[in-house]
Amino acid sequence: MKKILLISLTSIALIFATSCSSDADAAICGNCGDEKGTENCCKADAEKCEKCDKNKGSPGCCKE
Ligand SMILES: [Zn+2]
Ligand SMILES: [Zn+2]
Repeated sequence: MKKILLISLTSIALIFATSCSSDADAAICGNCGDEKGTENCCKADAEKCEKCDKNKGSPGCCKE
């Protein structure tokens, strides 16, 4: 049962990934992981994630 649930979740995620425009990805800054143009983007004193080195809690962060 768990495997079936996982597969359905993956396909749902895939549908979302393909239906959503790539604008969402483009809006994420590659340097800081935060949304481009926001006040947190590449902020010098922003709190960085220890694992991925992006802004902690940002959309681009691993959120570990
Ligand atoms: Zn940035
Ligand atoms: Zn992270």
